[in-house]
Amino acid sequence: MIGNPMDMLRQELDQRAQAGRPAQLWLRDDDATLPTASLDRLLTLTGQFEVPLTLAIIPADTGEALAERLDGEAQVEVAVHGWSHHNHAADGEKSQELGAHRPATTVLAELARGRERLASLHGAHFIPMLVPPWNRIADHVVAGLTGIGYEALSVYGPEKPAPLPVLNTHVDIIDWRGTRGGRPDDVLVAELLTVLRSHNGPIGLLTHHLVHDEAAWGFMARIFAATFAHKGCAWRSARDLLQIHGGRE
Ligand SMILES: [Zn+2]
Repeated sequence: MIGNPMDMLRQELDQRAQAGRPAQLWLRDDDATLPTASLDRLLTLTGQFEVPLTLAIIPADTGEALAERLDGEAQVEVAVHGWSHHNHAADGEKSQELGAHRPATTVLAELARGRERLASLHGAHFIPMLVPPWNRIADHVVAGLTGIGYEALSVYGPEKPAPLPVLNTHVDIIDWRGTRGGRPDDVLVAELLTVLRSHNGPIGLLTHHLVHDEAAWGFMARIFAATFAHKGCAWRSARDLLQIHGGRE
C-alpha cells in the first residue's frame, strides 16, 4: 500500500479539478424507521460536512416520530424502502421483498401505499424514488412503477436500462459477509477509484447507520473531510441529480 488512502483519493480529485470534470457523489443510507442515537450521529456528520443525505425509510415500520426528528434537517431527503422489508424468497434464495414470488399487482399495491405514507409523513423532504430492500426488484414490478407515481429507482451496482430514471449506489461501506462492520479505508477507496475511473454518471455511497461500528463511522468522517469543499467533486442530492422538482413547493 502506497500512502494514505484518503491522499490517493485527493490526488484523483485534484486531477478531476484540473480537468474541469468534478465527480458527482451522492449518499444513500438505508433502513431508517425511528429516531435513534445512530441516526443522530448520521445527521450530525452529514450536517457538519454539508453532505446531502437520502434516507431510505421502511414505510410499514415508521411514523410521526421519525418525521418530527427530520423536520428542519435541510440536507435530508426521504425515499421509499419497499413496504415492510419482509423477505418473500424461498430458503436458499437471495432475500427479496419485491421479487417475482408474488403477483406484481400485490407488490405494486404495497409500493403505492408506501409512497403515499412517506409523502404524507415527510412532505417537502419526500422524493418519489424507490429503493428496493436488498437492492433487488423483479422487472415486471419495475415496469409498473411509473404508473403508481414513482419517478426514479435506486439499486446497487452498474445501472441497467429501465423504464424510469435510475440513480444507483456503487460502494457499500459494510462488510456484510464478514465482520458486518465497516470495511477498511484502503479497500473502499480502491473500489471508489475504480468506479470513478470507469463510470461517467453520479457515484453513490451506500451506508446503513443502524449497523455502523467505529470503522464505518470513521470512514464516513474521513471521506467527508477529504472531499469537503474539494473542487474535484460535489456531493449532490438525489433530487438535484434526478431533477425532480416536486415536494418543495
Ligand atoms: Zn434495507
